[in-house]
Amino acid sequence: MQCSKCRRDAVVQQRYSGLRLCETHFLEDVERKVKRRLRKEIKLRSGNTLAVALSGGKDSSVLLYVLCGIFGRRRDINIVAITVDEGIAGYRPKYVRQAKKLADELSVDLFLFSFKAVFGATLDEIVRAAGLDDELRDKAPCTFCGVLRKTLLNRVGRELGVAAIATAHNLDDEAQTILMNYIRGDIARLLRAPARSEKFVPRVKPLRDVPEEEVALYGMLRGLKVEFEECPYKRLSFRFKILSWLNDFERRHPGTRYSILRGFERLVQDERRHFEPKSCERCGEPCAGNICQACRLLSKININYAP
Ligand SMILES: [Zn+2]
Ligand SMILES: [Zn+2]
Repeated sequence: MQCSKCRRDAVVQQRYSGLRLCETHFLEDVERKVKRRLRKEIKLRSGNTLAVALSGGKDSSVLLYVLCGIFGRRRDINIVAITVDEGIAGYRPKYVRQAKKLADELSVDLFLFSFKAVFGATLDEIVRAAGLDDELRDKAPCTFCGVLRKTLLNRVGRELGVAAIATAHNLDDEAQTILMNYIRGDIARLLRAPARSEKFVPRVKPLRDVPEEEVALYGMLRGLKVEFEECPYKRLSFRFKILSWLNDFERRHPGTRYSILRGFERLVQDERRHFEPKSCERCGEPCAGNICQACRLLSKININYAP
């Protein structure tokens, strides 16, 4: 199998684009997609700091690596990593070590925060407590984890004074999220976005146009030694069901993930509803209503979160 752009052996066949790419052209293709997405979503100015949410898994490791490559030569943009230790026994510690090692290799400052220190409980403890609550019992751990991680990242990003936080969501993650919200009939949630505000640190998802398997291949080709183990809670999530279904669909109809994302982006362009963020009555963090999701969740299991 030959590269569609040169005569070298191809390492990947992109069924969605009809291209076969050699190692060099594949790496270039991923980096081009990341740059294009960055240009579209944020404007960094001289002196800005860009934070990368680094879990130590393959996606965020690749993200940090690519961003360091893009901004490495620009001394006026500083890259830092924020690592969140959710407190998942037997799983997270390994990734935290991995994150530290990579940050070290790339000479990036890493800031480590834990759910335990910030919210007073590990995710494992929260999941146990939620099991005793009628309303929360059926929610997957990923729901709590997602809400709390978002809150934490925004808070520490603001405290560190970063211009934006980059998260490692890839094309698959994004297509799954869009489908999940469609299926739940919750399009409004996808269209809602906070108006520009000091309280919200802008988010950017540079890997949004890169399929999951290409992120993995990129990491492998670049020699990033990353763990591939799955979070033990993942299989309990609604997302996991969507994921299996979407993978199957993509195999039969290449390009499905891109068309889900593009279709949604076109919809959003005209329909975005910006809301003026209020301050949560309990913790002061910005939110759409009176009490933020994190506080609502934590108060149900009798944890009072007051930063
Ligand atoms: Zn080539
Ligand atoms: Zn709150």
